[in-house]
Amino acid sequence: MTKQKVSYFFNPDVGNFHYGTGHPMKPHRLSVIHSLILNYGLHKHMQIYRPYKASAHDMCRFHSDEYIDFLQKVTPQNIQAFTKHLSHYNVGDDCPVFYGLFDFCSMYTGASLEGAMKLNNHDCDIAINWSGGLHHAKKFEASGFCYVNDIVIGILELLKYHPRVLYIDIDVHHGDGVQEAFYLTDRVMTVSFHKYGNYFFPGTGDMYEIGAESGRYYSVNVPLKEGIDDGSYWQVFKPVISAVMEFYQPTAIVLQCGADSLANDRLGCFSLSTKGHGECVKFVKNLNVPTLVVGGGGYTLRNVARCWTYETSLLVDEQISNELPFTEYLEFFAPDFTLHPEVVTRQENANSKQYLEAITKYTYDNLKMCQHSPSVQMHDVPGPAISEDEKMKEEEDPDVRISQDLEDKMVEAKNEFYDGDKDNDKDDSKT
Ligand SMILES: [Zn+2]
Repeated sequence: MTKQKVSYFFNPDVGNFHYGTGHPMKPHRLSVIHSLILNYGLHKHMQIYRPYKASAHDMCRFHSDEYIDFLQKVTPQNIQAFTKHLSHYNVGDDCPVFYGLFDFCSMYTGASLEGAMKLNNHDCDIAINWSGGLHHAKKFEASGFCYVNDIVIGILELLKYHPRVLYIDIDVHHGDGVQEAFYLTDRVMTVSFHKYGNYFFPGTGDMYEIGAESGRYYSVNVPLKEGIDDGSYWQVFKPVISAVMEFYQPTAIVLQCGADSLANDRLGCFSLSTKGHGECVKFVKNLNVPTLVVGGGGYTLRNVARCWTYETSLLVDEQISNELPFTEYLEFFAPDFTLHPEVVTRQENANSKQYLEAITKYTYDNLKMCQHSPSVQMHDVPGPAISEDEKMKEEEDPDVRISQDLEDKMVEAKNEFYDGDKDNDKDDSKT
């Protein structure tokens, strides 16, 4: 197999947003991951891009104009004027209005969109956007910490060139927003592995949700119980994805790597190790199909950072040390300071072998019902979402005095890129 070309999208500002005190979603995790990636030297094995920022127009390819207009206008200061709209758009507690909300959405959505475009252009084989993966966002409303569904927008871009797109979701929560968007079509197959039952959020995703009309049999749900460990997860993941590949033969894949399926997540209840979670990523990479890799949930910051750093290393085929490199965030990883700490959990695995066999068989029987790899007549291919002109305009923005190229190089400088033991130009005064 020839080495796959990997592109990585990161906006250095995306980690500076804050959902509010006590909120489990912390965009800061993205800065920690980026720092680990640089300090492990993984950036040398991929193309690094400061991504395009999605416009309201891009977002409206999936979302309603009214909803995006609201997201663009609402701020913590003027929120009083929108009281009637808040419940209408499900904005408030789980999905708060915070400073820079629309900008945050533009950044993570633009990165998925540009990743899809680079895949379409054959500029890369794998595109990584850890800031994306906000799978709960709906056409008309926010849901589960998600406002704009970057995955749906990325898939819509892939569909311009790809007859069949496969979506795989290993977040602990059901990928409901993506499933709903493509429930009636065979152009996208959605496959979600998640905790189901006892009112666990979002409450959907039982195995009988299989799609409808032309999309019947093209939604696949693998409902799991709490405490699933690496061995049990693999027992379902491998056969289900193998069957999906056999029957659907996708030409592009979007992989949502929600890290709240790891053991000891603040909100999750599974018992996966970073290695077990990474096994799924490695398996999808080895399918050798153009793939957009996105993040998602993950609420125990140190574990999310470990997981997505490790998965970046798998995607670029580089072995990295279990001992974490020095970063400004090293203290987060006490007391072991390792990439793969031992998983200690009191959560019992409630998934019996028989239960897992039964859902795997049910899934397999449904997949057999798919018309073998549907094809569409691809003509009048619409152009890419972002024209070269638009990119140029962005770069020439008078507010941005330095060229994009230079800025991208500065990402390293800002994070005090450290290369080797002899390098001692670090600023030790920083905490
Ligand atoms: Zn989740």
